[in-house]
Amino acid sequence: MTQTTIKQQIDDLREALRTHNHNYYVLDQPTISDYDFDVQLETLKALEAKHPEFYDANSPTQRVGGAITKNFETVKHDYRMYSLDNSYSKEDLLDWEKRIKKLVDGAVSYTCELKYDGASISLTYEDGQLVRAVTRGDGFQGDDVTANIKTIKSVPLQLKGDYPPKFDIRGEIVLPFDGFNAMNAERIANGEEPYRNPRNTASGSLKLQDSAEVAKRPLECLLYNITGANLGVTTQFESLEKARSWGFKVPEIAVLADSVEAVLDFVNTWDAKRHELPYETDGVVIKVNHLQQQEELGHTSKAPRWAMAYKFKAEQVSTILNEITYQVGRTGAITPVANLEPVELAGTTVKRASIHNADQIEKLDIRERDTVFVEKGGEIIPKIIRVDLSLRPVDSQPTTYITHCPECQTALVRTEGDAKHYCPNYNGCPPQIVGRIQHYISRKAMDIEGLGGETVALLVKEGLITNYADLYELTKAQVIPLERMAEKSAENLINGVKASVEIPFERVLYAIGIRYVGETVAKKLAKHYKSIDHLMEATQEALEQVDEIGVKIAESVTLFFASEANKITIERLKTFGVQLSMTETELEGQTELLKGQTIVVSGVFEKVSRTELKKLIEDNGGKVSSSISSKTSFIVAGDKMGPSKKDKAEKLGVALISEDDFLRKVTFT
Ligand code: AMP
Ligand code: ZN
Repeated sequence: MTQTTIKQQIDDLREALRTHNHNYYVLDQPTISDYDFDVQLETLKALEAKHPEFYDANSPTQRVGGAITKNFETVKHDYRMYSLDNSYSKEDLLDWEKRIKKLVDGAVSYTCELKYDGASISLTYEDGQLVRAVTRGDGFQGDDVTANIKTIKSVPLQLKGDYPPKFDIRGEIVLPFDGFNAMNAERIANGEEPYRNPRNTASGSLKLQDSAEVAKRPLECLLYNITGANLGVTTQFESLEKARSWGFKVPEIAVLADSVEAVLDFVNTWDAKRHELPYETDGVVIKVNHLQQQEELGHTSKAPRWAMAYKFKAEQVSTILNEITYQVGRTGAITPVANLEPVELAGTTVKRASIHNADQIEKLDIRERDTVFVEKGGEIIPKIIRVDLSLRPVDSQPTTYITHCPECQTALVRTEGDAKHYCPNYNGCPPQIVGRIQHYISRKAMDIEGLGGETVALLVKEGLITNYADLYELTKAQVIPLERMAEKSAENLINGVKASVEIPFERVLYAIGIRYVGETVAKKLAKHYKSIDHLMEATQEALEQVDEIGVKIAESVTLFFASEANKITIERLKTFGVQLSMTETELEGQTELLKGQTIVVSGVFEKVSRTELKKLIEDNGGKVSSSISSKTSFIVAGDKMGPSKKDKAEKLGVALISEDDFLRKVTFT
C-alpha cells in the first residue's frame, strides 16, 4: 500500500469509529455490534502503531487512556466560570424578573434546563478539535484534566458540522446511577468500601492520575453553555441545538418559556419526575434566552444576572439530636453544631448539622435529646429546620448557650447586631491561631504549595509557629523531625513558603485575614489604596467613602490595624519580601481619570469586548453600574443599545458617548 492509501484507510476508520461512538454514547442508538466496533478499533490501533507518522492526539484510539498526570497544570480560563444565584419560590423568580426588566428592553423569554449535579468542566475546541479540558477550580483558573476527559466517550474529540473556529463549551461531568451502582457492586464484591454518591465520585474521577482508570468509569459529559466570540447564535436555546448538531451530548430536556408561570410548570414537572432521570439533578437552571439581553445584563461578582438556579425542594429526614457542641472558627466565631444519631439523607450518612448561632437555637427552641428534622441543601453540612415537639422528652430543659470559649475558656463576647458570639482571645486561642494560618496558606490566598492544613496544626502544636509571619523563618532542620515529614517534603514546604512572596498584593490583603475582607473586598481595597501603608493610615471615615465599603468593613479594617501585634506581623511580612503594595506592572494603565464617575456600558462593541471596556473603566478609577440613574455620569453606547435605555438616558440628561470617543478618553492621555 502507498502512504496515501494507508492515510486514507486510517482516516476512514477514524471517521467510522467517531460516528459509532456518537451513535452509541451521545444518541444512545448504536448501529453496529460491540464486536464489530472492537474489530475496527483494533485494526485502527494496529495501523497507527505501524505508522506513527499519522499520529493524532484526537484519534478514537486515544480514548482508552494510559497517560499519567502527576501534577495537574493550573490553567486560567479565558472566560470566567461563574456560579449561579439560587431561588426557591415563585416570589424569588418574580423578583428576579423584575430586576431583569429594569435592565433590558423588550420581551424576555427563558430557556429552562435541568441542573445536573456533577463536576463542572470547560472544554476548549479549536478548528473542531478538543484542545483542552479544565475544571472550574475557583472560577478564574482550574486544573488541566484533558487526558482524563478524552477517555469520556460522550466528549467529542473531533466535531462535525458548522462549528465556530474557536470556542469554549461548559458542561457537567456526571456519573449516571446505573454506572455508579455497577461500580459500587464491584467494590463491594472486592471487599472495598462503596462510594458515597455519584457527584463526589464523578469529581474525584477527574483528578485521578491514571487516565486508564478514568476510562473504565462510566462517566458522561452533559453540555449546556457555549462561550466565545462570533459564535453565530443569537439565543441560548439555539446554542443548545447547535451544540447538539456539532456532536455534543446536550440533554433534550430543555424548553423555552415566556413567563415565570411557564418556568414553574417545567420546575414542577421535573421536581416530580426527577427520580426517573438516569443521573442526579438538584434543580432547574433558568436562563434569559436572548444572548444580546444576556450581554446587557452582565454579571455580579459571583454569578450571571441572566441566569438563576431554582433548587428542588431539599430532602428531609428526622433523627435524634444527641448533643450540641461548639466550634471555634479562625475569626473566633462560635458555631454550635448538632451531633445527630446517624441517618441516611439524599444518599449520604449524616452525623452532624450546623445550627448557625444562638438565635437559631432560641428561635427553633432546639434542645439536646429532641427529635429534629434535618434538610440537605447545596451545602455539605445539612441544617436543622425544625423540632418535632410531640416527641420531646418530658424532663427536657431549654438549651443554655455557652458563656466561655470551649478551647481557651475566655469569656465570649457578642456585639450589637452580630448574630454570632466570638472568642476575643485573638492571639491565644488555638483554633484561631491555626485557622488564621490555614487561611493564609489556602489556595485563594497565598496558595503555599507543600504545606497543608494538618501540617499547620502540627507546627502550631509543636510551638514552631504562632502566626503566619513565623512561616518565613522556619528552617528545614526544624521541620524534618515532625511526623510524616521527610527531607524532600520539608524542602518543598520551605520552598513553597519562599515562593509565596510573589503573590500579588490583593491576595496578600485577603490572606492576612481581616474580618469581612473577602476576595472581592480585598481587590477593591488594594486597587484603591495601592499599598498596605496607605491602607493602614486610612481612617474609618475615609474607608467608608470608598466605593462599596460599608461601616462594618471599615470598622473591621481599622480595628485590625489598631492592634500592635498585627502591625508587628505586617512589618515582619515586609522584611520577608511579601508583596505589600501593587507592583509597577500592576499599576501600569491604572489612572484616576474617571475617579468619582459612575458609568453604564450598553450595546455591542466593535474594538473591545464589554469585559475589556469594564476593566478599562475600573483601571481608570471609574465605577461600572448596570442601570441608568441620575447618578450615572455617562453611558458608553455601542451598537444596538435598547430604545428604552436611550429614552431613560435622554430623560435624565445623561450623555452617551461612542466606543471610539471613550477609548480616546482613556488611552490617549
Ligand atoms: P452552584 O455550584 O450551586 O453555584 O451552581 C452552579 C453550577 O451548576 C455551575 O457551575 C454548573 O456546574 C452547574 N450546572 C448544572 N447544570 C447546569 C445548567 N444546565 N446550566 C448551567 N449550570 C449548570
Ligand atoms: Zn478561645
